[in-house]
Amino acid sequence: MSFQDLLGSALITFSKRYPFFNELMMRMRIIPVKTAEQAEKTGGSGYMIEEIPTMAVDAKGNIYINIYFATESISYKEVIGVLCHEMMHISLHHLRRIGNRQPKLWNIATDLAINHTLVKDGISLPAGGLIPSVNGDFDFDDYSINVEGKSSEEIYKELQDEAAKGNDVSDEAEKGFDQHDYEGELSNEAQEQGMRPGRMSEDDVQKVVQDAASEAQKRSKAGSDLGNSMRHITGDQKAKLDWRAILRRYVTFEMNRTKRATLYDRPARVSHSIGTYVPMKTDKPIPTVTLVAAIDTSGSVPQEDLSKFHAELTQLARTFKTEFDILYWDASVEDVKRMDSRGNIEDISGGVAGGGGTNISSVKLYYDKQQTKPKFIVYLTDGEIYEDRPEFVQGAKKLFIITSSGTEDILNQYGETVKMID
Ligand SMILES: [Zn+2]
Repeated sequence: MSFQDLLGSALITFSKRYPFFNELMMRMRIIPVKTAEQAEKTGGSGYMIEEIPTMAVDAKGNIYINIYFATESISYKEVIGVLCHEMMHISLHHLRRIGNRQPKLWNIATDLAINHTLVKDGISLPAGGLIPSVNGDFDFDDYSINVEGKSSEEIYKELQDEAAKGNDVSDEAEKGFDQHDYEGELSNEAQEQGMRPGRMSEDDVQKVVQDAASEAQKRSKAGSDLGNSMRHITGDQKAKLDWRAILRRYVTFEMNRTKRATLYDRPARVSHSIGTYVPMKTDKPIPTVTLVAAIDTSGSVPQEDLSKFHAELTQLARTFKTEFDILYWDASVEDVKRMDSRGNIEDISGGVAGGGGTNISSVKLYYDKQQTKPKFIVYLTDGEIYEDRPEFVQGAKKLFIITSSGTEDILNQYGETVKMID
């Protein structure tokens, strides 16, 4: 079977049996690859020429497949399996979640986490890889671990602890049947070879997962036979995107909206570089974006959470060169401070009072009396809101950041909530 026919068949199989993965596959980019040696023997035009003997994946939604690996070395069922494996790496943001971990151990941890859910779903994978049993056991040369119910981060921690005891398994990363491209070098290479690799951002990936889940849901079988893997992916979206990333997404959105408005006034004079807003020297005022942080001071926000939140606002102010209004509220808005675009906040003289009742509508009442209306309000609260009908500023986007010990169960009816865990 030719490689193109193989991909066509795979799509049909996904469509019939695994709708969620069918939707994912249609949203990701498949790049067929030959190695230099293979290209020399058979011709290489139309293929990426790269030392990828099996498969590779990057964070931007690209799946690189050596066509001989797919058509000759593994079975059709295993082709389905390895495609699922790569789609899961992308959907779970594995290439972006590495942080400052060691790549080899992270490769092992993520492969074990993915392969375990695929095995539980009865999916075939090429033998000899990092494939735990159905109950989650996996044997390295020196020791065994169990990955059932564990995140990649937890598995990594165990591998690292073992390495500290002298049981370093990083060389077993070679057993994986794919390469994990953290730096995005492969997509640059593909671009240079005249291909058009995907350029998905973290938010794009999250949207792809949401869209795939809702499309699959519309069809009767939803996740069907790949239920464990689908739940692994959809359930992990929020866990991965921590509160800082979500807050940053909202602020980026508002800043881009302002940028577009500015662009409309003065074409070609605004930097397009992502995440950077460069105000121009001009007599015209730059439209202000009103970003507001509304902090619950009713006594239930731990000092540690408050410090982390302030630190993040400082970062955002500096990154986006923007200002924040910071409101401190309990039964009413008790204090309003301004954070400037360098992240400096007016002195909170006498500390933040608070300690009274909790009335989240007080933020709206405050803005009802002001000239300006905020575009975006991020609330920091424990989420214990017992007003009959909480009210919010009309026309302002909002995000609720819930303290580490707070509850999302009440405010999630009014907007996106995210727990402050890290
Ligand atoms: Zn992998």
